Amino acid sequence: MRSRRNDDLLCKARITSNGAILLGRKVACDAHEPSRPVRVITHAHNDHIGGLSRSLEKCSWVLMTEATRDLLSVLRRKSIKRLPNVLGLRYNRPFDLGGEVLTFIKARHIIGAAQVLVEDEEGNRLLYTGDFKFPGTPVVEADALVMEATYGRPSQVRDFEHEIEERLVELVRSGLREGPVLVFGYHGKLQEVMQILVDGGVWVPFVMPKKVYEVTRVCERYGMMVGDCMPDHCDEARELVARGESYVGFYHSSSYNKLRGHRAAMCIRVSGWELTRPVRQVGKREFVVGLSDHADFEGLMAYVEECGPKVVITDNYRMGSGAILAEEIRRRLKVPAFPMPSRAPLKRDLTEWI
Ligand SMILES: [Zn+2]
Repeated sequence: MRSRRNDDLLCKARITSNGAILLGRKVACDAHEPSRPVRVITHAHNDHIGGLSRSLEKCSWVLMTEATRDLLSVLRRKSIKRLPNVLGLRYNRPFDLGGEVLTFIKARHIIGAAQVLVEDEEGNRLLYTGDFKFPGTPVVEADALVMEATYGRPSQVRDFEHEIEERLVELVRSGLREGPVLVFGYHGKLQEVMQILVDGGVWVPFVMPKKVYEVTRVCERYGMMVGDCMPDHCDEARELVARGESYVGFYHSSSYNKLRGHRAAMCIRVSGWELTRPVRQVGKREFVVGLSDHADFEGLMAYVEECGPKVVITDNYRMGSGAILAEEIRRRLKVPAFPMPSRAPLKRDLTEWI
Protein backbone atom coordinates (compact mmCIF):
# COMPACT_ATOMS: atom_id res chain seq x y z
CA MET A 1 0.00 0.00 0.00
CA ARG A 2 2.89 2.37 0.72
CA SER A 3 4.71 3.85 -2.25
CA ARG A 4 7.31 6.58 -2.51
CA ARG A 5 4.58 8.99 -3.62
CA ASN A 6 2.43 8.08 -0.61
CA ASP A 7 5.38 8.36 1.77
CA ASP A 8 6.04 11.82 0.39
CA LEU A 9 2.41 12.84 1.02
CA LEU A 10 2.50 11.31 4.52
CA CYS A 11 5.42 13.63 5.32
CA LYS A 12 3.40 16.63 4.18
CA ALA A 13 0.19 15.70 6.01
CA ARG A 14 0.22 13.91 9.36
CA ILE A 15 -1.06 13.93 12.93
CA THR A 16 1.35 14.21 15.85
CA SER A 17 1.17 12.31 19.13
CA ASN A 18 -0.46 15.33 20.79
CA GLY A 19 -3.20 15.63 18.18
CA ALA A 20 -1.84 18.44 15.97
CA ILE A 21 -2.72 18.02 12.30
CA LEU A 22 0.30 19.18 10.29
CA LEU A 23 -0.24 20.35 6.71
CA GLY A 24 2.70 21.40 4.52
CA ARG A 25 5.68 23.07 6.17
CA LYS A 26 4.06 25.75 8.33
CA VAL A 27 0.57 24.86 9.50
CA ALA A 28 -0.55 23.02 12.64
CA CYS A 29 -4.29 22.55 13.10
CA ASP A 30 -6.25 21.97 16.31
CA ALA A 31 -3.32 21.58 18.76
CA HIS A 32 -0.16 23.58 19.42
CA GLU A 33 3.02 22.37 17.70
CA PRO A 34 6.14 24.33 18.70
CA SER A 35 7.85 23.95 15.30
CA ARG A 36 4.96 25.48 13.33
CA PRO A 37 4.52 29.27 12.97
CA VAL A 38 0.88 29.08 11.83
CA ARG A 39 -1.84 27.71 14.11
CA VAL A 40 -5.29 26.94 12.75
CA ILE A 41 -8.41 26.35 14.82
CA THR A 42 -11.04 24.58 12.73
CA HIS A 43 -13.85 25.19 15.25
CA ALA A 44 -14.50 26.08 18.87
CA HIS A 45 -14.94 22.59 20.39
CA ASN A 46 -12.64 21.75 23.30
CA ASP A 47 -10.72 18.98 21.59
CA HIS A 48 -9.72 21.35 18.77
CA ILE A 49 -8.33 24.24 20.81
CA GLY A 50 -5.51 22.42 22.65
CA GLY A 51 -2.59 24.68 23.56
CA LEU A 52 -4.49 27.80 22.50
CA SER A 53 -2.68 30.05 25.00
CA ARG A 54 0.75 28.87 23.78
CA SER A 55 -0.25 29.39 20.16
CA LEU A 56 -1.51 32.89 20.92
CA GLU A 57 1.80 33.65 22.59
CA LYS A 58 4.22 31.93 20.19
CA CYS A 59 2.73 31.70 16.68
CA SER A 60 3.08 34.32 13.96
CA TRP A 61 -0.52 33.67 12.94
CA VAL A 62 -3.48 32.06 14.67
CA LEU A 63 -6.12 31.56 11.99
CA MET A 64 -9.80 30.71 12.34
CA THR A 65 -13.08 31.85 10.84
CA GLU A 66 -14.61 35.06 12.14
CA ALA A 67 -17.47 33.11 13.77
CA THR A 68 -15.03 30.81 15.60
CA ARG A 69 -13.07 33.84 16.79
CA ASP A 70 -16.29 35.41 18.15
CA LEU A 71 -17.34 32.16 19.83
CA LEU A 72 -13.95 31.80 21.49
CA SER A 73 -14.13 35.37 22.71
CA VAL A 74 -17.41 34.50 24.48
CA LEU A 75 -16.36 31.07 25.73
CA ARG A 76 -12.63 31.41 26.39
CA ARG A 77 -10.82 34.72 26.17
CA LYS A 78 -12.49 38.05 25.61
CA SER A 79 -9.20 39.54 24.42
CA ILE A 80 -8.78 37.13 21.49
CA LYS A 81 -10.39 39.58 19.06
CA ARG A 82 -7.83 42.25 19.85
CA LEU A 83 -4.64 40.19 19.49
CA PRO A 84 -2.63 41.25 16.42
CA ASN A 85 -1.65 37.69 15.41
CA VAL A 86 -5.26 36.43 15.44
CA LEU A 87 -6.95 36.58 12.06
CA GLY A 88 -10.56 35.76 11.29
CA LEU A 89 -10.66 34.46 7.71
CA ARG A 90 -13.65 34.10 5.41
CA TYR A 91 -14.53 30.88 3.64
CA ASN A 92 -13.09 30.31 0.16
CA ARG A 93 -10.60 33.23 0.39
CA PRO A 94 -7.05 31.94 -0.20
CA PHE A 95 -4.51 33.20 2.35
CA ASP A 96 -0.89 33.37 1.23
CA LEU A 97 1.53 31.89 3.76
CA GLY A 98 4.58 32.64 1.59
CA GLY A 99 4.98 29.71 -0.80
CA GLU A 100 2.00 27.79 0.52
CA VAL A 101 -1.63 28.88 0.25
CA LEU A 102 -4.30 28.16 2.85
CA THR A 103 -8.05 28.24 2.26
CA PHE A 104 -10.97 27.61 4.64
CA ILE A 105 -13.95 25.76 3.19
CA LYS A 106 -17.20 25.50 5.09
CA ALA A 107 -17.89 22.37 7.15
CA ARG A 108 -21.37 21.55 8.43
CA HIS A 109 -20.74 21.07 12.15
CA ILE A 110 -21.07 23.98 14.57
CA ILE A 111 -21.19 27.60 13.47
CA GLY A 112 -17.81 28.73 12.12
CA ALA A 113 -16.48 25.22 11.43
CA ALA A 114 -14.02 24.97 8.55
CA GLN A 115 -12.14 22.44 6.45
CA VAL A 116 -8.54 23.48 5.81
CA LEU A 117 -6.86 23.19 2.41
CA VAL A 118 -3.13 23.83 2.06
CA GLU A 119 -1.66 23.89 -1.46
CA ASP A 120 2.11 23.63 -1.45
CA GLU A 121 4.74 24.79 -3.96
CA GLU A 122 4.68 21.46 -5.80
CA GLY A 123 0.93 21.67 -6.31
CA ASN A 124 0.02 19.07 -3.66
CA ARG A 125 -3.42 19.59 -2.16
CA LEU A 126 -3.43 18.72 1.53
CA LEU A 127 -6.84 18.76 3.18
CA TYR A 128 -8.03 18.41 6.77
CA THR A 129 -11.80 18.08 7.12
CA GLY A 130 -12.00 19.00 10.81
CA ASP A 131 -15.27 17.71 12.27
CA PHE A 132 -18.09 17.56 9.75
CA LYS A 133 -21.53 16.24 8.96
CA PHE A 134 -22.22 14.59 5.64
CA PRO A 135 -24.16 15.18 3.44
CA GLY A 136 -24.15 18.95 3.90
CA THR A 137 -20.39 19.56 3.81
CA PRO A 138 -18.84 20.39 0.42
CA VAL A 139 -16.34 17.80 -0.77
CA VAL A 140 -12.89 19.22 -1.58
CA GLU A 141 -10.60 17.38 -3.98
CA ALA A 142 -7.29 16.51 -2.37
CA ASP A 143 -4.15 14.42 -2.76
CA ALA A 144 -3.82 13.80 0.96
CA LEU A 145 -7.01 13.74 3.02
CA VAL A 146 -6.89 13.98 6.82
CA MET A 147 -10.29 13.23 8.27
CA GLU A 148 -12.15 12.91 11.53
CA ALA A 149 -13.23 9.42 12.64
CA THR A 150 -15.82 10.01 15.38
CA TYR A 151 -18.23 7.42 13.97
CA GLY A 152 -15.62 5.30 12.20
CA ARG A 153 -17.13 1.87 12.94
CA PRO A 154 -19.32 0.21 10.29
CA SER A 155 -22.09 -0.25 12.89
CA GLN A 156 -22.24 3.50 13.57
CA VAL A 157 -24.92 4.38 11.07
CA ARG A 158 -27.94 6.61 11.70
CA ASP A 159 -30.92 5.51 9.62
CA PHE A 160 -33.28 8.07 11.14
CA GLU A 161 -31.43 11.20 9.99
CA HIS A 162 -34.22 12.27 7.62
CA GLU A 163 -36.90 12.32 10.34
CA ILE A 164 -35.01 13.61 13.36
CA GLU A 165 -35.94 17.29 13.01
CA GLU A 166 -39.63 16.54 12.58
CA ARG A 167 -39.60 14.20 15.60
CA LEU A 168 -37.88 16.82 17.74
CA VAL A 169 -40.46 19.48 16.82
CA GLU A 170 -43.32 17.04 17.55
CA LEU A 171 -41.84 16.17 20.92
CA VAL A 172 -41.38 19.81 21.97
CA ARG A 173 -44.90 20.69 20.83
CA SER A 174 -46.37 17.84 22.89
CA GLY A 175 -44.41 19.02 25.95
CA LEU A 176 -45.50 22.64 25.50
CA ARG A 177 -49.14 21.60 25.74
CA GLU A 178 -48.44 20.74 29.40
CA GLY A 179 -46.00 23.53 30.32
CA PRO A 180 -42.41 24.68 29.85
CA VAL A 181 -39.95 22.42 28.03
CA LEU A 182 -36.25 22.37 28.96
CA VAL A 183 -33.63 21.38 26.38
CA PHE A 184 -30.11 20.37 27.48
CA GLY A 185 -27.12 20.22 25.15
CA TYR A 186 -23.72 21.68 24.37
CA HIS A 187 -23.05 25.13 23.01
CA GLY A 188 -23.64 25.09 19.26
CA LYS A 189 -25.99 22.11 19.47
CA LEU A 190 -28.48 24.13 21.56
CA GLN A 191 -28.59 26.82 18.89
CA GLU A 192 -29.14 24.17 16.22
CA VAL A 193 -32.18 22.98 18.19
CA MET A 194 -33.44 26.59 18.35
CA GLN A 195 -33.19 26.86 14.57
CA ILE A 196 -34.97 23.51 14.07
CA LEU A 197 -37.82 24.66 16.33
CA VAL A 198 -38.12 28.02 14.55
CA ASP A 199 -38.12 26.28 11.15
CA GLY A 200 -40.78 23.92 12.53
CA GLY A 201 -43.02 26.86 13.54
CA VAL A 202 -42.53 26.71 17.33
CA TRP A 203 -43.02 30.38 18.19
CA VAL A 204 -42.78 30.54 21.98
CA PRO A 205 -40.10 32.56 23.80
CA PHE A 206 -36.73 30.88 24.28
CA VAL A 207 -35.21 31.49 27.72
CA MET A 208 -31.57 30.76 28.58
CA PRO A 209 -28.69 31.59 30.94
CA LYS A 210 -26.29 34.42 30.10
CA LYS A 211 -23.54 32.29 28.51
CA VAL A 212 -25.98 30.39 26.28
CA TYR A 213 -27.53 33.74 25.33
CA GLU A 214 -24.15 35.19 24.33
CA VAL A 215 -23.32 32.15 22.17
CA THR A 216 -26.78 32.42 20.61
CA ARG A 217 -26.16 36.06 19.68
CA VAL A 218 -22.95 35.02 17.88
CA CYS A 219 -24.85 32.31 15.97
CA GLU A 220 -27.51 34.86 15.02
CA ARG A 221 -24.86 37.30 13.81
CA TYR A 222 -23.61 34.64 11.41
CA GLY A 223 -26.99 33.83 9.93
CA MET A 224 -28.77 31.34 12.17
CA MET A 225 -32.47 31.92 12.88
CA VAL A 226 -32.73 31.37 16.60
CA GLY A 227 -36.16 32.78 17.48
CA ASP A 228 -37.32 35.08 20.28
CA CYS A 229 -34.42 34.65 22.74
CA MET A 230 -34.01 36.24 26.14
CA PRO A 231 -31.56 35.77 29.03
CA ASP A 232 -33.18 34.25 32.12
CA HIS A 233 -32.15 37.15 34.35
CA CYS A 234 -34.09 39.81 32.40
CA ASP A 235 -37.44 41.09 33.75
CA GLU A 236 -39.41 39.79 30.79
CA ALA A 237 -38.11 36.25 31.30
CA ARG A 238 -38.67 36.33 35.06
CA GLU A 239 -42.30 37.48 34.61
CA LEU A 240 -42.96 34.93 31.91
CA VAL A 241 -41.65 32.10 34.10
CA ALA A 242 -43.55 33.39 37.15
CA ARG A 243 -46.83 33.52 35.18
CA GLY A 244 -46.30 29.91 34.07
CA GLU A 245 -46.45 30.80 30.39
CA SER A 246 -45.22 28.55 27.62
CA TYR A 247 -41.53 28.75 26.83
CA VAL A 248 -38.58 26.56 25.92
CA GLY A 249 -35.57 26.81 28.22
CA PHE A 250 -32.11 26.03 26.85
CA TYR A 251 -29.38 24.91 29.23
CA HIS A 252 -25.89 23.52 28.98
CA SER A 253 -25.69 19.75 29.51
CA SER A 254 -23.72 20.30 32.71
CA SER A 255 -26.92 21.70 34.33
CA TYR A 256 -28.99 18.62 33.61
CA ASN A 257 -28.84 16.95 37.02
CA LYS A 258 -29.49 20.23 38.79
CA LEU A 259 -32.47 21.30 36.68
CA ARG A 260 -34.21 18.12 35.53
CA GLY A 261 -37.78 18.04 36.77
CA HIS A 262 -37.54 21.68 37.80
CA ARG A 263 -41.09 22.95 37.17
CA ALA A 264 -40.91 21.66 33.62
CA ALA A 265 -43.43 19.59 31.69
CA MET A 266 -40.62 17.89 29.79
CA CYS A 267 -36.81 17.65 29.76
CA ILE A 268 -34.98 16.78 26.55
CA ARG A 269 -31.29 15.96 26.23
CA VAL A 270 -29.74 16.10 22.76
CA SER A 271 -26.90 13.66 22.09
CA GLY A 272 -24.93 12.55 19.05
CA TRP A 273 -24.41 9.07 20.50
CA GLU A 274 -28.01 7.92 20.02
CA LEU A 275 -27.60 5.68 16.99
CA THR A 276 -30.59 3.36 17.02
CA ARG A 277 -33.63 5.54 17.69
CA PRO A 278 -34.36 9.23 17.06
CA VAL A 279 -36.19 9.67 20.37
CA ARG A 280 -35.79 7.57 23.51
CA GLN A 281 -37.82 8.01 26.69
CA VAL A 282 -35.58 7.72 29.75
CA GLY A 283 -37.93 8.89 32.52
CA LYS A 284 -41.51 9.92 33.16
CA ARG A 285 -40.99 13.27 31.47
CA GLU A 286 -37.46 12.85 30.19
CA PHE A 287 -36.28 12.09 26.69
CA VAL A 288 -33.01 11.79 24.75
CA VAL A 289 -32.98 12.93 21.12
CA GLY A 290 -30.29 11.68 18.71
CA LEU A 291 -29.09 14.83 17.02
CA SER A 292 -25.52 14.67 15.74
CA ASP A 293 -23.19 17.14 14.03
CA HIS A 294 -20.94 14.40 12.68
CA ALA A 295 -21.03 12.20 9.60
CA ASP A 296 -21.93 8.61 10.42
CA PHE A 297 -19.80 5.76 9.04
CA GLU A 298 -21.50 5.83 5.66
CA GLY A 299 -21.07 9.60 5.43
CA LEU A 300 -17.33 9.29 6.12
CA MET A 301 -16.95 6.64 3.42
CA ALA A 302 -18.98 8.70 0.94
CA TYR A 303 -16.75 11.72 1.55
CA VAL A 304 -13.61 9.69 0.78
CA GLU A 305 -15.14 8.29 -2.41
CA GLU A 306 -16.12 11.73 -3.72
CA CYS A 307 -12.84 13.35 -2.67
CA GLY A 308 -10.73 10.77 -4.54
CA PRO A 309 -7.51 11.17 -2.52
CA LYS A 310 -4.25 9.33 -3.12
CA VAL A 311 -3.88 8.73 0.59
CA VAL A 312 -6.12 9.10 3.68
CA ILE A 313 -5.05 9.76 7.26
CA THR A 314 -7.70 9.12 9.91
CA ASP A 315 -7.68 10.98 13.23
CA ASN A 316 -6.79 8.39 15.83
CA TYR A 317 -6.15 10.94 18.55
CA ARG A 318 -9.59 12.36 19.29
CA MET A 319 -12.65 10.43 20.41
CA GLY A 320 -13.55 7.96 17.68
CA SER A 321 -12.34 4.93 15.76
CA GLY A 322 -9.47 6.03 13.53
CA ALA A 323 -7.84 2.60 13.18
CA ILE A 324 -11.07 0.82 12.26
CA LEU A 325 -12.05 3.52 9.77
CA ALA A 326 -8.63 3.35 8.05
CA GLU A 327 -8.95 -0.41 7.74
CA GLU A 328 -12.44 -0.11 6.19
CA ILE A 329 -11.26 2.55 3.72
CA ARG A 330 -8.42 0.28 2.61
CA ARG A 331 -10.68 -2.77 2.35
CA ARG A 332 -13.79 -1.27 0.77
CA LEU A 333 -12.42 1.63 -1.29
CA LYS A 334 -8.90 0.32 -2.01
CA VAL A 335 -7.41 3.66 -1.01
CA PRO A 336 -4.24 3.66 1.14
CA ALA A 337 -5.34 4.80 4.61
CA PHE A 338 -3.45 5.14 7.88
CA PRO A 339 -4.57 6.01 11.42
CA MET A 340 -2.43 8.64 13.15
CA PRO A 341 -1.08 8.54 15.72
CA SER A 342 -0.79 4.81 15.05
CA ARG A 343 -1.63 4.10 18.66
CA ALA A 344 -4.60 5.98 20.14
CA PRO A 345 -3.90 7.79 23.44
CA LEU A 346 -4.73 5.58 26.41
CA LYS A 347 -6.42 8.24 28.43
CA ARG A 348 -9.47 9.54 26.61
CA ASP A 349 -9.90 12.73 28.55
CA LEU A 350 -10.64 14.65 25.40
CA THR A 351 -14.19 15.58 24.64
CA GLU A 352 -15.44 17.82 21.90
CA TRP A 353 -17.87 19.61 24.14
CA ILE A 354 -17.96 23.27 24.89
ZN1 LIG B 1 -16.42 19.30 16.93
